[in-house]
Amino acid sequence: MEVFFRVSLSFFDPALQAEITSRAFLLRDLRQGIEHDELRLFYQPIVNSQRCILGVEALVRWQHPELGLLPPSNFITLAEQTNLIHPIGLWVLQTACAQLVQWARQPDFAQWTVAVNVSERQFNDPEFVSVVERAIDQSGADARLLRLELTESMLHDDLNKTLYKMNALRRRGVEFSLDDFGTGYSSLSYLKKLPLNHLKIDKSFIDDVLSDPNDSAIVRTILALARNLDLHVIAEGVETDAQMDFLVNCGCAAFQGYLFSRPLPVEQLTSDCASNMAGPARR
Ligand code: C2E
Ligand code: MG
Ligand code: MG
Repeated sequence: MEVFFRVSLSFFDPALQAEITSRAFLLRDLRQGIEHDELRLFYQPIVNSQRCILGVEALVRWQHPELGLLPPSNFITLAEQTNLIHPIGLWVLQTACAQLVQWARQPDFAQWTVAVNVSERQFNDPEFVSVVERAIDQSGADARLLRLELTESMLHDDLNKTLYKMNALRRRGVEFSLDDFGTGYSSLSYLKKLPLNHLKIDKSFIDDVLSDPNDSAIVRTILALARNLDLHVIAEGVETDAQMDFLVNCGCAAFQGYLFSRPLPVEQLTSDCASNMAGPARR
């Protein structure tokens, strides 16, 4: 009689174990953080060629009790991998709509738009349209001043569903921006078929727009494409006057970046603007 022995080997990888443990702690903290009201919404201005503020992009942060203020790169991916993106996304939408209502009462800020980032998982939720509509209705915000930022990757799934959701919200007045444009695998036919209003040129093309002929060609091409498709363009990550001048000369009309302002808490943004209303936006 033959006897076979099965040998099973298992490896212990301390680095992997440490990563799993820290992810578990972070997830526990994030759950608590949402319950304990630790999320913060910062706002970064979007300006025109005269550097007057047209609106803002809402960018989430997490005020962690021990680790301090965390950027979205530290927790949004984890939130997307778990269902936590839903309560976070809802909080961001509700806070942004409440902010629109507050600004509507102040003539200096009443025309500002607020752009909210939407993650793929949020957009794919069958309830997405009603979640957004409820946030608008319950706050009393003017839907025409709310802008939703989508990324190219989320537009590939089911074109009919995407169209249905976008059209339903467009009918309410909500506008759509395509964020980080040029970094995904855009099918240009999507740009034609979807009811988009704005393209945001990704920062990676702006960084070297003055030194890399490929990047300047890409930026010019995006601007020409947008003009032909009747889309507005916002250049992201503008950090220098020279980049701004180049973009203005190419016909770009809206800009966002540290040159004008970093993302700020609302009190700081509005007090800076109040003291600097006629002049250039804060650097
Ligand atoms: P995004 O939507 O492309 O936002 C622009 C990011 O570029 C922001 O980083 C902003 O602070 C940064 N930025 C703007 N101008 C400059 C510049 O001149 N130089 C440099 N170096 N950076 C600049 P942030 O706030 O860290 O957000 C990173 C990403 O996290 C966002 O990229 C967005 O994809 C995601 N995110 C932020 N808030 C939310 C949210 O509420 N929900 C979801 N789902 N994602 C969010
Ligand atoms: Mg964005
Ligand atoms: Mg972007």
